[in-house]
Amino acid sequence: MQAAFEQGERPSTAPTSLHSPLVIGQCKTLDVDHAGLKLNLATSAQPSDEVARMWSDLAAEMAKMLSTPAKVTLIVTDRFVDTVRGLEGEVPETLGGTQNYDPTKPDGSLAVARTLPLHDRTVVVVNAGLVAMGRAAIRRVLHHEAQHVRLHQADDIAWAMHRRAPFERPIGFGYAHVYLAQSMIDEYRCEAAVASAVARAATELDETPNGYPAIASLFCAIRTQFVKSGDLEAAYESSLIALNRLGPYLAYATATIARGELRADEWLAVEPVRIVAETLLTIPPASTPRGYAELQGDVTDAVHALDAISNHLGFKVGVDEDADQAFLYFY
Ligand SMILES: [Zn+2]
Repeated sequence: MQAAFEQGERPSTAPTSLHSPLVIGQCKTLDVDHAGLKLNLATSAQPSDEVARMWSDLAAEMAKMLSTPAKVTLIVTDRFVDTVRGLEGEVPETLGGTQNYDPTKPDGSLAVARTLPLHDRTVVVVNAGLVAMGRAAIRRVLHHEAQHVRLHQADDIAWAMHRRAPFERPIGFGYAHVYLAQSMIDEYRCEAAVASAVARAATELDETPNGYPAIASLFCAIRTQFVKSGDLEAAYESSLIALNRLGPYLAYATATIARGELRADEWLAVEPVRIVAETLLTIPPASTPRGYAELQGDVTDAVHALDAISNHLGFKVGVDEDADQAFLYFY
């Protein structure tokens, strides 16, 4: 989950006279409820009782949403990036593996939480600074991440599904496109499964039509830079990075339609939403299993939707199958 968010803010460390029933301190692990979900509050400063209790309550709420909470660890940390990077090596190759996680996005927004599917458990890492955005925002982030956990526990993640199930790469597109499509599908399914009341309580985390120009301008900047430098490889890399920002934006946008918060016509100014919604709205939210056979078709459709969006934005990225080479054209 990502949000426009200032890095480095920490939960209140004001001393409190309350005697917390919880043993919480640096890197102490705490069982928050009988279902066994582990909450690890790993902040450099001791959080106040109030903050600790809030995390504990919300972790317990998260546990209730999961079929196997005992295989989940929730880490709340002010060393967010280091913690994610430290765990990346444990993500199995079949689940995509990851390396050198970077939470910053090209338009300046910043990821605040990440769910890592490991082979015997799922770890959700949340930036402790999220406290600055308040309880409703934290609740929304945890509800979204709980859906990622759900997808992992149900063996229903689209990301890297081609490593776990039969998959035919769409002709003319490389795996970079396949991953973009898979990520967009997972983000859509998770966000569409967040209860509307939970989402509406924290609308500051919504994607809105107003957010689109900043993302569209990324593509204009790539073209301008290319005209100046002639560096096609750099333009290719940058266009994939920009698509990687656009995909989740479109996923969140389409989820507002799925949850009934915005009508499709309220997104009319954002043509890519119309294009991608044709595919995404046919896919059930994370609360309903999809299965790899269906996901394969969904991923292929989403690859083609991303291609149509690229064309709309004035460029085309793909693979020349005969030459076995990636290409980028500007129109
Ligand atoms: Zn997500």
